[in-house]
Amino acid sequence: MIYKNFINNRWSDAEFGKTFDGVNPFTEEIIAQIPASSEPDINNAVRAAQAAFKDWSGLTAGERRDFLRSLANNSRQHAETLAKTISSEMGKPFKDALTEIDDLAEYLEYYSELARDQVGRLVAPVDQKSMSLVQYEPYGVVGCIIPWNYPLSLMGWKLAPALAAGNTIVMKPSEVSSLSILHWVELAAREMPPGVINVVTGFGQEAGETLVKHPHVPIITFTGSVRTGKRIARLAAENLKKVSLELGGKDPVIVCDDVDVEIAARGTCWGGFVNAGQVCTSVERVYVYENVAKKFTDALVEEAKKVKIGDPMDDATDVGPMASMAQLNNAIEKVNLAKEQGCRVLTGGKRSDKYIKGYFFEPTVFDKIKDEMDIVTEESFSPIIPVQKIHSMNEAIEMANSTKYGLGCTVFTKDIERALTAANKIKSGTICINNPLMENIAAPFGGMKQSGIGREHGIEALEEFREVKHIFIDYDYRNKSWWFGDKGGQ
Ligand code: NAD
Repeated sequence: MIYKNFINNRWSDAEFGKTFDGVNPFTEEIIAQIPASSEPDINNAVRAAQAAFKDWSGLTAGERRDFLRSLANNSRQHAETLAKTISSEMGKPFKDALTEIDDLAEYLEYYSELARDQVGRLVAPVDQKSMSLVQYEPYGVVGCIIPWNYPLSLMGWKLAPALAAGNTIVMKPSEVSSLSILHWVELAAREMPPGVINVVTGFGQEAGETLVKHPHVPIITFTGSVRTGKRIARLAAENLKKVSLELGGKDPVIVCDDVDVEIAARGTCWGGFVNAGQVCTSVERVYVYENVAKKFTDALVEEAKKVKIGDPMDDATDVGPMASMAQLNNAIEKVNLAKEQGCRVLTGGKRSDKYIKGYFFEPTVFDKIKDEMDIVTEESFSPIIPVQKIHSMNEAIEMANSTKYGLGCTVFTKDIERALTAANKIKSGTICINNPLMENIAAPFGGMKQSGIGREHGIEALEEFREVKHIFIDYDYRNKSWWFGDKGGQ
């Protein structure tokens, strides 16, 4: 099937007619030809979004709410079709893809209401007959650059608050998961005013960078790797654009010796292997108290062996294939390097031979880890969990803080003092106690250190997409004593 860009509510070929292949990671078949867009396509989309901005930003928040609700309703109505697209292009189990659509609809509903609340504040006046209003305004055209691991919910994290705040949008989906977003605009966004949502597919260096550099796009919101985030920040700095960056992580789990190790092992297994380890907040390292380390590690290995890898459309499947051949190769490289550096594979560690085709990688647990190894310091974005022993909470905190990342962290303990000590001292955007990878749409999500700049979710995400203006009003219409010359003012 041949796909097109979505600009001004119309389908259009890439200006130079170039395409690339969309591949199903389970069957390894080519399932689509997707436009490899370039500068003229981005320019067309930005023009459409600019033209739509005046009317869209001029709607009342209640009118925008109705549009966002219809996006949410349409998403729910077409949930099965959209979930099948996600499964077929990036390998996520269908049942997990369905929850992604539900999340997307929830974001749309939440921000449709939240944006009806405050659009500013009134601060104490400097003179008796004056007022200082602080007003929040949309930026204009928001450039959204989206990764492949949760194509529709991560799109929603950006699109819902950006639209609710009154901005219009040009989106550049990942090369690996463009179809989910193209199907979504076809099924859900047809009733939107033309130009409010535009989708231009293509490669990061060409389509993505053109969007980042475009002079009429004052704000870029990006989710993806630290490397690309740094590149985008450098490009955006040329025009002093606002950027919000949701980047990678190396999230630790700390397992204390007061817990039920079976429960901690099950939670850790899920947190490390869900979505084949391709979650920004995946469990990427485990620090376990020495006196329960053997019991915990044995339980984790048993849990890892029970994970059912298979056809994403099969209800019994826990974990599908890696999203792409590149991701499979990434996992293989990470494991080979870890083995070279002296780690021991306790289970997994290789491409699965369960199927003749498909980019499957076995859930992997390592021990014999040293602090300086790449498997401890660099994000793997793969189903790989290295386990290290620790002797105290202080040591665990030091280790947790030892990488350049600061996205999330989980602590398993029943001891409130240990839990809160860790929560206060670990430098990460989210801390979960006894339940990894938990989010709350109303609470901010994002990274400290090199895991990002800015926040998604909650009121904080709405603020990312609104500029702040001070409006000073003097209603004592008289000459002022400090103005030049003596005009008899007070
Ligand atoms: P990526 O950085 O390779 O690509 C992300 C997006 O950026 C894609 O759309 C890509 O086409 C585009 N891109 C690539 N180079 C670009 C450039 N030079 N200019 C503009 N755009 C460019 O990341 P990925 O492989 O798609 O996603 C995996 C990474 O994303 C992991 O590091 C993961 O931790 C991170 N991630 C973070 C979060 C979060 O919320 N913090 C969520 C999901 C994923």
